[in-house]
Amino acid sequence: MSLLGKNVAANNLAGKRAVITGGSSGIGADMALAFAEAGAEVMITGRREPHLQKVADQHNRVDFAVVDVTDEAAMVALFEKIGRVDIVIANAGAAESAPFAKTSFEQWQRMLNVNLSGVFLTLREGLKQLNDGGRMIAVASTAGLKGYAYVGAYCAAKHGVVGLVRSLAAETATRNITVNALCPGFTDTPLLAASVDNIVAKTGQSAEQATSHFESINPTGRLVTPAEVTATALWLCGPNSGAINGQAISISGGEV
Ligand code: NAP
Repeated sequence: MSLLGKNVAANNLAGKRAVITGGSSGIGADMALAFAEAGAEVMITGRREPHLQKVADQHNRVDFAVVDVTDEAAMVALFEKIGRVDIVIANAGAAESAPFAKTSFEQWQRMLNVNLSGVFLTLREGLKQLNDGGRMIAVASTAGLKGYAYVGAYCAAKHGVVGLVRSLAAETATRNITVNALCPGFTDTPLLAASVDNIVAKTGQSAEQATSHFESINPTGRLVTPAEVTATALWLCGPNSGAINGQAISISGGEV
């Protein structure tokens, strides 16, 4: 069947309701504005109210709720309040680094809580409200597909997200619900800026040196942009992507 004349660009989300965790900055904020522009009603969440407000102020189809993804009761209440949805994007996450032998149990648990348990709660509560034919996406990382030194807890959590997505995808396929993981390489966001600051503080390198270290890991020699991650999410939520299910999609210029 020819696609000529059909809406193959994933730009018509009119009437769809989307929830995006971690919408107060970076990739989640970029996604929120693009999904709203494509016609969806978007609810973003995060802990920092002023940042959420600033994103919501930029589009009349973006609303926000202050919710910590690691708080089970708050996540249950959030989705009960929102009601039926068509798109759930578990994007909230955080990265901390430490040599493995110096990784405290608290840090290990912090990384698993926000990056894995937060995704679990988002997808579990989101699924309860998801319409048949809905789309779920978890923003994992290339750190969910390969190992990087000094971020063992983050890598373990992101590998866990990929496993969770594969399992859930098998469970929901008969309802035409797809569940996929996005695996960006190093992406130009405040999270990466914090990692650069950390390297500067710990090694005495300049910010330019630290940034070019991350750029050099990507075969294209540059950072991934939030818009490139958003474009993949829009495509997955579009009308012709229903057969893409249980995948971990690398958005890394070929690093993975
Ligand atoms: P970012 O700008 O720091 O965004 C992280 C978002 O997560 C913020 O909106 C933050 O909101 C939210 N968040 C963090 N902890 C939370 C919590 N406990 N409860 C609720 N929200 C929480 O960084 P980003 O790069 O866009 O990160 C988005 C996702 O992409 C993360 O899962 C990250 O692991 C992943 N990723 C990033 C890169 C990269 O190089 N940047 C690469 C691969 C994957 P509040 O602070 O307001 O709570």
